[in-house]
Amino acid sequence: MLILTCPNCGVVADETDLHGGGEAHITRFGADASEGDFESYLFHKKNPRGVHFERWRHVYGCGKWFHAARDTVTLEVFGTYSAQTLTPPKALQNKIKKKRPDWEGFKK
Ligand SMILES: [Zn+2]
Repeated sequence: MLILTCPNCGVVADETDLHGGGEAHITRFGADASEGDFESYLFHKKNPRGVHFERWRHVYGCGKWFHAARDTVTLEVFGTYSAQTLTPPKALQNKIKKKRPDWEGFKK
């Protein structure tokens, strides 16, 4: 079972209290976007084997969104952080790099 700590309210919640929102840190395009950019935004998501950054909502708790970094193979959670960030916190990226030296680092 996937267990995440909500950074908004501090509750340690299992996945039944949460709702996954897909890939984190995706670029959103406005009305003037090209069809290709909008198609990419809608349909082309990363689905890596290994380190992944995701959006989660504490739906049966505080109701707020947050981001989580985890390994999609082992389900190891590296950490959670505010959804009000454009990139994962440097400290979290360093922690992941220490645990997964072959990780190529965060890429948008
Ligand atoms: Zn919460």
